[in-house]
Amino acid sequence: MTGCGRLPVVYAPEADERLSSWAARMAPFYAMTVSEFVAALGLKGHDVFDLEWRLSEGQGALIAARTGLSPEAMQAMTFRELGSAARLMIARKNRSPCPHCPEDLHRKAAALPWRFRCKVHGVEFRDATGETLSDRFGADCFKKLEGHAEAGAAHLDAWARGAGQETLAAPEVLTVLTARHRRASPPNVDEQPRMSLKDRRDYHDFLTTPILRQALTVVVPEYDQVAPVLAKPVRPGLHALAQGSLLQCFALTVGVGRIIEDPVKWAISVMLESDAEGHGRVRQAISPWPLSLRRSISARFWRAERDERARQTAEKAARQRQSHKYRLIQSHKYRYRIS
Ligand SMILES: [Zn+2]
Repeated sequence: MTGCGRLPVVYAPEADERLSSWAARMAPFYAMTVSEFVAALGLKGHDVFDLEWRLSEGQGALIAARTGLSPEAMQAMTFRELGSAARLMIARKNRSPCPHCPEDLHRKAAALPWRFRCKVHGVEFRDATGETLSDRFGADCFKKLEGHAEAGAAHLDAWARGAGQETLAAPEVLTVLTARHRRASPPNVDEQPRMSLKDRRDYHDFLTTPILRQALTVVVPEYDQVAPVLAKPVRPGLHALAQGSLLQCFALTVGVGRIIEDPVKWAISVMLESDAEGHGRVRQAISPWPLSLRRSISARFWRAERDERARQTAEKAARQRQSHKYRLIQSHKYRYRIS
């Protein structure tokens, strides 16, 4: 099967199918590896993932002539609509499977980490264990979160396409979400499974492992509650999405949505939850945000902190009054006993 005639059998690309998926379906038909098939298309030595990222007009025309498919159909299988910054977001295969799609079919949308439903079937993706996000969060909670995730995904899509994001670009939001707002600490009581005393001794290492504490858990407390404690931390910045699990990517996309909807409110919530060291890191993460936003954050944070101090002082005073009363009762009892 050499030469430059037209291939006798060519599969039509499926909806939203990527070039690497189409080539991987075609190659076995001709008993070839993918790189042999790419060579048979007249592009010897080219990597199929490079081709699906950017296919030059000449390369597109070459494949079109060999397959009988239109050059537009070839280009539609590439990621040409994405800007260069987004390349690290593209997984080599579907990130999470759709239960209705054939296993060997890889669609473009399923390569991006902020998609949680199959574009064709509309059903939820499943993680490696077959679990859906509705299973994990509960259907009602997931439905509520999905609204924020849609806002987050729209923002991430616009960034990936290279649209100018003047207020808050996606990487700037992710830097804040993945900032370590508190010192790393071992699993707290809520995060530990119920254990017998013997188990506690056996799992001493688990119970004392410091877990990174990131702003994501403040902005998306629902994630904090359902994520397995050891798999809770995400990687910093854009890598959190590029390398995250289905659950982590969903939480990050919800977080992006919430911050875009109200950046000042969420920045203050994170700062109020921060410890001294983490506070500096969060401030650092916010420093590339526009000046007008940072001014609002500073002004409102100052007020929020003052209110928090006032609340704590009032609580302390109430506690003192309480313990004073208690002491009176105690001393009374004491007098009563000895008299
Ligand atoms: Zn599907």
